Amino acid sequence: MNTIPAKTIITRKQDNSWFGTDFNMNIYKGCCHGCIYCDSRSDCYQISDFDTVRVKENALEIIRDELRKKAKSGVIGTGSMSDPYNPYEVKYQLTRQALQLIDTYNFGVAIATKSSLIARDIDILTKIKDHSPVICKITITTIDDVLSKLIEPGVCTSSKRFETIRELSEAGIFTGILMMPLLPHLTDSVENVLGIIHAAHQSGSKFIYPLFGLSLRSGQREYLYQKFDEFFPQDRLKQYYMKSYGSSYECHSPREKELGQVFTAECNRLGILYKMEDIISAYKTVYDYKQFSLF
Ligand code: SF4
Repeated sequence: MNTIPAKTIITRKQDNSWFGTDFNMNIYKGCCHGCIYCDSRSDCYQISDFDTVRVKENALEIIRDELRKKAKSGVIGTGSMSDPYNPYEVKYQLTRQALQLIDTYNFGVAIATKSSLIARDIDILTKIKDHSPVICKITITTIDDVLSKLIEPGVCTSSKRFETIRELSEAGIFTGILMMPLLPHLTDSVENVLGIIHAAHQSGSKFIYPLFGLSLRSGQREYLYQKFDEFFPQDRLKQYYMKSYGSSYECHSPREKELGQVFTAECNRLGILYKMEDIISAYKTVYDYKQFSLF
C-alpha cells in the first residue's frame, strides 16, 4: 500500500450536529469499495485516483501526539471520506490500533462503515464504551443482496451487514443504520424501506438515519451515470436523472413524502430511533450525566 505525507489526522469540527462527533479522523485516503454513488469521489474534494487506498505516513504516531495534546476529550468520528475498514485493514490494523489509542486517552468514537470487519474490534469498542460514548453506523441502502453487490461491489452483502449489526448489538455496542442514499427509481421503493426497517429491527439496530434521495456533484455524477449505463441500460436511469435533476446537488426521490410517512410510522411502531437529536441523546446522555456527577 502506498503512503502519503500527513501533518495532522484528527481535526476538530466546527459543530457536532452530525451524530455528536467533535473530531474527524481519516487514517486512509481514497477507498476501494467502489460504491457507484460515492460522494467522496466528487471533484470538490480533489482526491486523485480515489479508488486507490493510501495510508497517511506515521499515522499512529501523529494520532498519539494529537490525542495526548488535546485539552478536552470528545467523540472522534471516522468513515466520512473513506471506509476505515478497507481490505488493507485486515493486515495493517491501523484503525484497530487507532481505536486502542482512543481508548488509552479516554475519547469516544463514532464509526461509519459498510464492512463486517468492524466486528473484529468489538473487544476494543467495549473497552471504550466503559468510559466514553461509542456509536457504530453501518450503511445499508438496499435489502436486496444481488443489488447491493452491484452498487456496492467492494463490500459484503446487505445480509452480512445485518449480521454484523447483530454481533455489535449483542456485545452492547450502540449500533444502527445509515440508510443513505436511496437512489431514485432504483432503491427508493416502499418495499425496500420496509425491508430494511424490519431487518434492522431483527438485528437489534437502535436507529436508522435516512436520506430519501442522494447528493450529486461533479465527478460523482459522471461515475454514477457510467455505472447506470453499465448495469441498468434498459432502465434508462441516466436519462431519467439528467432530465429530473440536471446539475442539482440535492436530488430528492419523487416518493420522498410517501417514503417518509411509511418510514416514521414503522420506526415509531418498532421503537427504532430516526431523529438525529434522539440518536445523539441515546448514546451520549449517560456519559454526560457521569461527567456532571463527577463535577
Ligand atoms: S464505502 Fe463510502 S467512501 Fe468507500 S466507496 Fe463506498 S461510499 Fe465511498
